[in-house]
Amino acid sequence: MVNKNSHADHLPERTCVICRKKMEKEALIRFVVLDNEIVFDLQKKIASRGFYVCNNNLCVEKLDKWIRKHKKQ
Ligand SMILES: [Zn+2]
Repeated sequence: MVNKNSHADHLPERTCVICRKKMEKEALIRFVVLDNEIVFDLQKKIASRGFYVCNNNLCVEKLDKWIRKHKKQ
């Protein structure tokens, strides 16, 4: 895993909301926030504003905290 900012600029990159790592879209899970709940957009069909999280338990588990902060904003 290369940890550079300007790596592979021909691929679309997204930032994980938890660890702030930039990764290829395919390595992340897209989700949206509907009625203050996290809904994983596995079919990539939900037309709301999307967020991305790493496809690993470490980051996914922290989404719980993240959504609580997100609600307050
Ligand atoms: Zn992450």
